[in-house]
Amino acid sequence: MTATHSGRTGESGRRLSWHEFFASQARVMALRSTCPRLHVGCVIVREKRMIASGYNGSIHNDVHCTDVGCRMVDGHCVRAIHAEQNALLQCARFGIATEGAELYVTHLPCLMCTKAIIQAGIARVYYEEVYRPDPYAQELFELAGIPVEQVASNLKWLVEPGAHV
Ligand SMILES: [Zn+2]
Ligand SMILES: [Zn+2]
Repeated sequence: MTATHSGRTGESGRRLSWHEFFASQARVMALRSTCPRLHVGCVIVREKRMIASGYNGSIHNDVHCTDVGCRMVDGHCVRAIHAEQNALLQCARFGIATEGAELYVTHLPCLMCTKAIIQAGIARVYYEEVYRPDPYAQELFELAGIPVEQVASNLKWLVEPGAHV
């Protein structure tokens, strides 16, 4: 494949990979987060198409952490629902099958999201940043036979067209 056929930027001749593309989509979703403690974004993908997305934020009709501050209990903000659960529940709400789909998320899923991801039948998880790895979550993913792989969004492609990575 020559540069002229594939280059997003022409000059560099390099095209975004699917991992970079979906990991970047998760990053963009994270920009919608309303809990300042951690901005997480997630997209669920089937056959190279996004079927759902989510970010961490408040439950419908509740106030936003960004407006009134976090609602802290035992050192955690309990107001926000996590990005992965929001994306999975979007599928539940609109009747979209998650069996066999892939999930891209900006940060390594927490234990509760791990449980939801496994029970929803997600086949593969891609994350970009290691965040508070949970040994039990890792064990559950292994038991379920779900590969969990770190990928890079190389997001500067979005903000610096022509940047070499
Ligand atoms: Zn919060
Ligand atoms: Zn979570």
